[in-house]
Amino acid sequence: MISYTESDEERGQVKYKMAQAFRSRRVLTPEGFRPATVAVEGEKIASVRAWSDVPPDAALNDYGDLVVMPGLVDTHVHINEPGRTEWEGFETATRAAAAGGVTTLVDMPLNCVPETIDATALEAKRAAAKGKTWVDWAAWGGVVRGNADSLPGLVNAGVPGFKCFMIHSGIDGFAWVDENDLRLALEKLRGTGLPLLAHAEKAEAIDKRTSELNAAGHDWRKYSTYFLSRPSISESDAIVTLIALADEFKTPIHVVHLSGASPALTLLKGARARGVPITVETCAHYLCFASEDIPDGATEYKCAPPIRNAANRESLLQALEDGDIDMITTDHSPCPPAMKKRDTGRFDQAWGGIASLGLALPSVWRVMQRRGVKLESMARWMAAAPACLASLEGRKGTIAAGADADLVVFDPDTEWTISKDDLHFRHKLSPYIGLAARGRVRETWLRGEMVYSSGGFFGAPRGKEQVRN
Ligand SMILES: [Zn+2]
Repeated sequence: MISYTESDEERGQVKYKMAQAFRSRRVLTPEGFRPATVAVEGEKIASVRAWSDVPPDAALNDYGDLVVMPGLVDTHVHINEPGRTEWEGFETATRAAAAGGVTTLVDMPLNCVPETIDATALEAKRAAAKGKTWVDWAAWGGVVRGNADSLPGLVNAGVPGFKCFMIHSGIDGFAWVDENDLRLALEKLRGTGLPLLAHAEKAEAIDKRTSELNAAGHDWRKYSTYFLSRPSISESDAIVTLIALADEFKTPIHVVHLSGASPALTLLKGARARGVPITVETCAHYLCFASEDIPDGATEYKCAPPIRNAANRESLLQALEDGDIDMITTDHSPCPPAMKKRDTGRFDQAWGGIASLGLALPSVWRVMQRRGVKLESMARWMAAAPACLASLEGRKGTIAAGADADLVVFDPDTEWTISKDDLHFRHKLSPYIGLAARGRVRETWLRGEMVYSSGGFFGAPRGKEQVRN
């Protein structure tokens, strides 16, 4: 069987590709691990067959006992291009993704200029990404105050859903929304089936707590000051509003980066049991770090909502295992190092965002493996579930016939420590430097072509935008 890719055709040089086979004793399929041969024709998985059943005309990649798992999907990434490419960009971000086994990412709408709040801005992002992406990608649209009328245009242009902030976003051009704005947006989204992703924090409790901390003369070099300034109640208050709106509009709402376990998880669990269409993610940094361990002045740990204490982390881990949290993302949100204010170490002045793209699999796997969690669960949280959120289920995040041949060859048992050399995003400032990790991505394959192998990148950036199913 021979086939050719669209991009080859576009270049007018139809390149015939051999059929390939990827064989291992440990292939991670939706039914679990099994010895298997993944037959690939062109960009797609043609079949998942018995281990010994290699198609006779296929070039064989035999990985022995290494894990062959689906390419990961990270639905929470801030790329910053166009407009703030000095913060990050498609080229560097997608390299970091490829090195970490992430074959599809979805970019947030706020850090680029123009912000992705209408179809024209989406076109600018598409133009900026052209020829620069090492993995496949998609773009969330933005819901901001006053842009409800632009939402149908973004839906028609193919976004998989929308993102909004219930508190100041840090970006002046991306205005936060109150309940009234949310109603106007949900009116437009009702019936499209597309999710509204929400940064769930309300300003009231945060503003009050911040004034109290300032009045009492607390030291903003201490992580505890920042942690105290953003109480869980501001998050759970926002979640109460989101649950009520998802229920009223019967429109899917997705809570991004859940940080505080209590009482948010109880509220979400109750709503889900009642059939309210609400989903929730947490992020790798809430699972790998705890507030007690964050040194004073270490602003590379600053994100919003904040990393909370070890007991809270335990509850988040348990909620994943219990099925009460649906997925894990990175919320990779870098900035130029100077904006992290490492010189003063003041948490109130530093940019809020953690650089982490591509590091989630080995860092979270180390934590989960010690708890006895299986890699199958990791694949659900980091591939299948986020693919579903971005309306890419069946095409991305799974090893099954008909899916894109996005494959990760993973050695799950190597213990190692993350160093600066392992970071492939633009600015090498990250709390993950020095973190113990488990498992290494050996190879990453995007739609049937190897893009990464043991520290090196291969071919050219050939990632494509993925428009929803
Ligand atoms: Zn974010």
